[in-house]
Amino acid sequence: MKLNFDLIKKMGHEQVTFCYDPASGLKAIIAIHNTSLGPALGGTRMYPYETEDAALEDVLRLSRGMTYKSAAVGMNLGGGKGVIIGDPKKDKSEALFRAYGAFIERMKGQFITGEDVGMDVNDIEFMFMETDYVVGLSRGHGGSGDPSPKTAFGVIEGMNACVERKLKRKSLKGLTVAVQGLGHVGYHVAKLLHQKGAKIIGCDVDKEAMTKAKKEFGIKMVGPDEIYDVTCDIFSPCAMGGILNADTIPQLKCSIVAGSANNQLKNDKEDGQALQDRGILYAPDYVINAGGLINVALELEGYSERRAMILIRNIYYNLKRIFEISEEQQIVPNRAADQLAEERIQKVCGIRRAHFLDKSKIKRNCL
Ligand code: NAD
Repeated sequence: MKLNFDLIKKMGHEQVTFCYDPASGLKAIIAIHNTSLGPALGGTRMYPYETEDAALEDVLRLSRGMTYKSAAVGMNLGGGKGVIIGDPKKDKSEALFRAYGAFIERMKGQFITGEDVGMDVNDIEFMFMETDYVVGLSRGHGGSGDPSPKTAFGVIEGMNACVERKLKRKSLKGLTVAVQGLGHVGYHVAKLLHQKGAKIIGCDVDKEAMTKAKKEFGIKMVGPDEIYDVTCDIFSPCAMGGILNADTIPQLKCSIVAGSANNQLKNDKEDGQALQDRGILYAPDYVINAGGLINVALELEGYSERRAMILIRNIYYNLKRIFEISEEQQIVPNRAADQLAEERIQKVCGIRRAHFLDKSKIKRNCL
């Protein structure tokens, strides 16, 4: 992938910034996709990318996804993302994250970031020493803490919309759910499903994660390749992206796909259609997994857990609306979600041109 104006034009980005700090060894890329609805918000991922091209491809794809996610769930935020090229197990340092924070500060509120794969709250706290434009801080700094339980809560609300639509059921009680990945979000999805009386079948590649979930919720475990073959009502991908593809979709024995993983469809068009053709209802990933985003974004106006839960509950209504559009217009649900997001951006961008977040407007409810 070669970065040039043709590529940026094709993907619709506004700005791509390469950040380099020789003293700390920081090599990062920040991509701002669209700020029509507000400042770009998106996490920063630290990953040992094999090539700079791979890092660029990831940040361009992820930042674009954030634009759609914020727009579809009704946030006044744009889409952006950061990637730091490095091994989270070896390359982390105070200097590296402070240098990265200083780059974000220089963007003057055009980009706000938080934790993504390979990052934790300590890294964000180092960034916070240099910039206010971060979210996902600890509760002591007025932050909202780990977003995973809130993301899981949103996934369950989304599952409720799916079962109502597809199975004409009002609850998850008695249904069988296959959960792929029992990490931060998957664990909490399993916990909530257990509380709601669903039968859970799980898998993970990490032994510790499996043992914990098995012990706490009595989950039956299958191998990572067997999870696609499990006969269930809902298949819930809570691990990696790209897992819904030409190989796996024919294997599925479920009525619904509803999980937290980002970029679940390997090819949006073909795989979204393949699920529809098999009679499987797909909950578009960026809508059903928006709980974490909604939660962290509230930090900017003074975090309230009660307000977060009320807003995350709207995922149920958002999905219901998306399924209605899908039926009315005879389009697949992932296309209906994209359309909802694109229409909102088009209609609202003329009214609101809030590219930057004024620092003085950030309210932190510090403990
Ligand atoms: P995590 O790393 O804590 O958990 C992922 C789990 O999946 C790990 O336990 C890992 O061992 C397991 N896994 C990896 N490959 C697997 C495979 N092939 N089969 C089975 N298990 C496998 O990550 P997380 O924070 O729980 O996020 C899970 C997914 O949800 C990711 O795609 C993430 O981008 C997305 N997401 C997370 C949040 C959040 O709040 N954390 C918000 C939105 C979206």
